[in-house]
Amino acid sequence: MAVYQIVETGDEILRMPAKKIEKITPNVGKLLDNLRDTLEASETGVGLAAPQIGISKRAIVVSYEEEYYELINPEIVSKEGEDTDTEGCLSVPGVLGEVTRAVKVQVVGLNRQGEEVKIKAEGFLARIFQHEIDHLEGILFIDRAEKIRRVE
Ligand code: ZN
Repeated sequence: MAVYQIVETGDEILRMPAKKIEKITPNVGKLLDNLRDTLEASETGVGLAAPQIGISKRAIVVSYEEEYYELINPEIVSKEGEDTDTEGCLSVPGVLGEVTRAVKVQVVGLNRQGEEVKIKAEGFLARIFQHEIDHLEGILFIDRAEKIRRVE
């Protein structure tokens, strides 16, 4: 079990495009485990991208309504619709904003065995994937948000 400190805005790693994972090694499995442990320890988070624990690599985990996903080199291959909803981010504590995103997405990536997986997501789950994949490009939700506000 390894819970990392979550990197917060101001740290330039959050602004760098993350590196593609070229080879599935045991370290990639460890990275996914550490992301999961850190996400679970956060209690409020629903997703986490590797740059948020200070590792500039293309890996994300998502935990939403009893479903858990982990993806290496995830990419959005199709998008449908548009919806605006409230988002926050563990790396931008105390801030919420309204973000417009696709309602449905298809995401492809690799699992920890290096096999290709395709996920169809809708609604808030689709939103989480879009938010986490943005992190891999150095994009934060506050870049896209309107009505940004501070919360306690
Ligand atoms: Zn985030």
